[in-house]
Amino acid sequence: MDWKTLSTKILNSVYNRLFLTQCYLCDTKSKHPLCQHCRKGFTKNTFSCYHCKHPTDTQNILCGQCQISLPAYQNCIAPYRFEGIVKILIHSIKFNQSSHHIRPLTYLLGEELIKEYSSKPWPEQILYVPSHPSRIKERGFCQTQIMTKQLIKYLQTYTTEKHIKITHPNPIKKIKDTQAQHLLNKKERLKNPKNNYLVDQSIAKHVALFDDVMTTGSTIENCTKLLLNSGAEQVDIWVIARTPDKEH
Ligand SMILES: [Zn+2]
Ligand SMILES: [Zn+2]
Repeated sequence: MDWKTLSTKILNSVYNRLFLTQCYLCDTKSKHPLCQHCRKGFTKNTFSCYHCKHPTDTQNILCGQCQISLPAYQNCIAPYRFEGIVKILIHSIKFNQSSHHIRPLTYLLGEELIKEYSSKPWPEQILYVPSHPSRIKERGFCQTQIMTKQLIKYLQTYTTEKHIKITHPNPIKKIKDTQAQHLLNKKERLKNPKNNYLVDQSIAKHVALFDDVMTTGSTIENCTKLLLNSGAEQVDIWVIARTPDKEH
């Protein structure tokens, strides 16, 4: 090997080490944690209700459900739709314990949150919708807790916000072990979550509540009301994906 080829090789490897990272999904070298090709598989929730982020066909409308009854949370961030690769990744985390699939999802949500809070105050406390202890025992982990930890790690790296840390233990507890939500139909899901959660410690005035997916929104709304009754004055919802209508 001549010196020119050798120096180009060394320079390339230094460049790769400094400026390129590996794509979380396909392992190819990329400037971002998700390469352009893999990123295309994630469907952005571009057209959605401006309050609840329910997927719609047109932009900037208030959906029918919100017109009937406006959810109690102030702000909802749900940048992706629960379909395609997002659905595959979330299912693999939940049911196959594929924890390495958490990073691409929390990276994409983290990116949106940084944009969202560039012009408004970050919440003082970050909470998550937990699983029931018996389900955690069965699966060996609580996926929303692991996702929140990973999300916070990302936000701590890319922001200077001091409030961004996980509260341990999470102030919301699931007290009733309901049948897994995905096995219920929409009608059952809407009536199911009532009084399934409790808040057992004091919480900040402005909180964020994380969940991986929002479908009907009934669990989120129930937890929001609980947080508002427990001292919160503003609840922001952070979810990775919102389920489109055909999934109901
Ligand atoms: Zn990739
Ligand atoms: Zn809506």
